[in-house]
Amino acid sequence: MGRVSGKIALVTGGGSGLGAADCELLAQEGATVVVTDVRIETAEAVAQRIGSGAIAIALDVASEQSWIAVIAEIDRRFGRLDILVNNAGVVLVADVEQTTLEQFRWVNAIMSEGVFLGCQHAIPLMNKGGGGSIINMSSTGALLGYPIYLAYSAAKGAVRSMTKSVAVMCQVKGYKIRCNSVHPGAIETPMVQEAEGRIGIEEQVAEGVLPPDAKGHPRDVANMVLYLASDESRFVTGAEFVVDNGLTIRPF
Ligand code: NAD
Repeated sequence: MGRVSGKIALVTGGGSGLGAADCELLAQEGATVVVTDVRIETAEAVAQRIGSGAIAIALDVASEQSWIAVIAEIDRRFGRLDILVNNAGVVLVADVEQTTLEQFRWVNAIMSEGVFLGCQHAIPLMNKGGGGSIINMSSTGALLGYPIYLAYSAAKGAVRSMTKSVAVMCQVKGYKIRCNSVHPGAIETPMVQEAEGRIGIEEQVAEGVLPPDAKGHPRDVANMVLYLASDESRFVTGAEFVVDNGLTIRPF
């Protein structure tokens, strides 16, 4: 019996990095996973790797029409949704003096509005099935002052506080829906490779406890997502889970 057996999960940005690792681990633990991505070919590749426990659907998280279509498709196929991982994201390396309004809006349309739309459109289907767990991918960018990630940090800060608002609303209204945020530090994915100007050049992530300057493996975040997706975390809502190997608490 897997830790999320029988549950239906939707992961956004599931075609790469952290989202792909979430899809693989949730499926391994018994969930049926709807792998979504704006780049459908990447979602299809992940779903194919997983096999019968996954399907791929195109979803642009910044488009409300796209959300309506995907939620309707999940309703039609499964009649329920138990897990939503709002993971899709983009990175923009620019400080407050360099960021244009257009860039700011682009980043926030995907990572702030996308999370808002995900929560809003998933809640009715989760309620239909008796409840669920929403996991919003924030970042240590929501907790620290990174000069070069202005728009990114603004979006992740919005995700952090939106999560708490959704969590309390669900409790107040008697919905059996929990909502938590995850705050990874640097994890070795294509996004970090892009931000560091080494596209496609992967670093090896060692096993065991890692030194302070090391990057984590996508599986390190997926393990947290799995816990929050499972009923093991039933007494946990509105909380923020930092997965950063101590980055945010080091005084030096
Ligand atoms: P990634 O670039 O490997 O994957 C991001 C995925 O999101 C891609 O598959 C991309 O196609 C998809 N995407 C982009 N725009 C989209 C849209 N409009 N609609 C749907 N999908 C879209 O990046 P990653 O590192 O795996 O990041 C995943 C999430 O984790 C992001 O929200 C990111 O901000 C967050 N995060 C990552 C790190 C890290 O170190 N990698 C740290 C903190 C937070």
